[in-house]
Amino acid sequence: MAFEDLKIILWPDPRLRKMSVEVEHFDQNLRDLSLRMLELMRESKGVGLAAPQVGLNIRMFVMNPTGQPGDDRVYVNPVLTDATGEEAGEEGCLSLPQINAEILRDRTLHMEGKNVEGQPISETESGYIARVWQHEFDHLNGTLILDRMGEQARMSHRKTLRDLEERYELEHPKKLVKTTKTKR
Ligand SMILES: [Zn+2]
Repeated sequence: MAFEDLKIILWPDPRLRKMSVEVEHFDQNLRDLSLRMLELMRESKGVGLAAPQVGLNIRMFVMNPTGQPGDDRVYVNPVLTDATGEEAGEEGCLSLPQINAEILRDRTLHMEGKNVEGQPISETESGYIARVWQHEFDHLNGTLILDRMGEQARMSHRKTLRDLEERYELEHPKKLVKTTKTKR
């Protein structure tokens, strides 16, 4: 498979902070990418994974709310509208290992987008699935749970964040010198 070298990238990798661009081509490449992302998500026991988390800044995410093989979902160019209600709930992120926090989300949302074949999706969901949508949608705009958790929660994770920064610096010694361009 073309994407076997992909892996999940961790904060503070700058690719997690970029605005992702719309997908234009619904081809075999996109299907292969979605399969690889679902595989990586499953290996890490996650319920959702967005393309920026594998270093690709395109508007696409995968999820599986039940863990059943038949329940894999791929959303491309998603748009969320008609938010109603609010609900706080615990969230983690595969790009921020060992960090969990209460995040306030819209309770019910409407989603318009495409599936991996390019066919239109139009769904309304509440609760858990709507929460995963919002988490993954945030990734497409460079937003992380770090930006949505309270100041106290961020403080309580200070040590873990510092460790992640040190790990990134060790693994990417030259990237820190460059301030504007990211290597692809
Ligand atoms: Zn995440």
